[in-house]
Amino acid sequence: MSVDDMTTVPDTVTMPAPATPYQGDIARYWDGEARPVNLRLGDVDGLYHHHYGIGEVDHSALGGDGPDREKRLITELHRLESAQTDVLLDHLGTVQRDDLLVDAGCGRGGSMVMAHQRFGCDVEGVTLSVKQADFANRRAHELGIEKSVQARVCNMLSMPFTTGQATASWNNESSMYVDLHDLFAEHARILAVGGRYVTITGCWNPVYGQPSKWVSQINAHFECNIHSRREYMRSLIDNRLVPQAVVDLTEATLPYWELRATSSLTTGIEDAFINSYRDGSFQYLLIAADRV
Ligand code: SAH
Repeated sequence: MSVDDMTTVPDTVTMPAPATPYQGDIARYWDGEARPVNLRLGDVDGLYHHHYGIGEVDHSALGGDGPDREKRLITELHRLESAQTDVLLDHLGTVQRDDLLVDAGCGRGGSMVMAHQRFGCDVEGVTLSVKQADFANRRAHELGIEKSVQARVCNMLSMPFTTGQATASWNNESSMYVDLHDLFAEHARILAVGGRYVTITGCWNPVYGQPSKWVSQINAHFECNIHSRREYMRSLIDNRLVPQAVVDLTEATLPYWELRATSSLTTGIEDAFINSYRDGSFQYLLIAADRV
């Protein structure tokens, strides 16, 4: 389905403006973002993601070099990015229908929709971008799940939830835009004791030493600040979030990047990801932590 088909635009609940000039830059970045690599993949089945894929490429689904190759390639890349969300959701633990899940940095809302479809519960998302929140709310409305899936324009360092309100919360490729101590303090506040926090993120590898030139290139490309694996662990533990599972997804995400690099949807950042994953300076990690 196409984005242009959407007619009813529900109001986005607008919270106070970004707290810092940097957050203003990030809000503008995502308000203006309309890369085909995100939109055309989302058009495949209406789940719009702004993250990368994991898992083996199904070469039989790609077929040969015929005129349909690009279409099949887009469908395959999209399958891998939804597979990434599935792995995140697998780590949320037991979720009941009357629980609340929070997606911090929710983008266009693909993960929220998948979480609601899996658990049947309410899912609230926050993003700095008005356009993204509107988009996510419009999709939820179209799917008839707008009472359960809502996006708000809001800073994830100060979320509109009461203490202990959430059963689980996550950052799917959105933690590189904030200070980790501030972020995890806020997740620890909104999570119930015994609740679950999950992140999937790229991080630089302290075993390599310092951020490599590829990592610096990725930071410049996305205007973000990739943290180290060490910083994730330290900041989680310092904020009552105790890692329960750490899964290195680096090998699993390389096929997505290698396939994407052969498509017409390249954005120019593919080599930086592939080179830094290969030279060990960058890792794609899932961390699941218990709120204690
Ligand atoms: N999690 C989504 C989107 C990832 S893109 C997905 O997997 O598809 C990064 C997102 O982080 C964007 O939506 C951006 O608005 C959001 N973000 C960055 N800094 C933020 C902040 N301080 N508060 C709320 N959202 C933020």
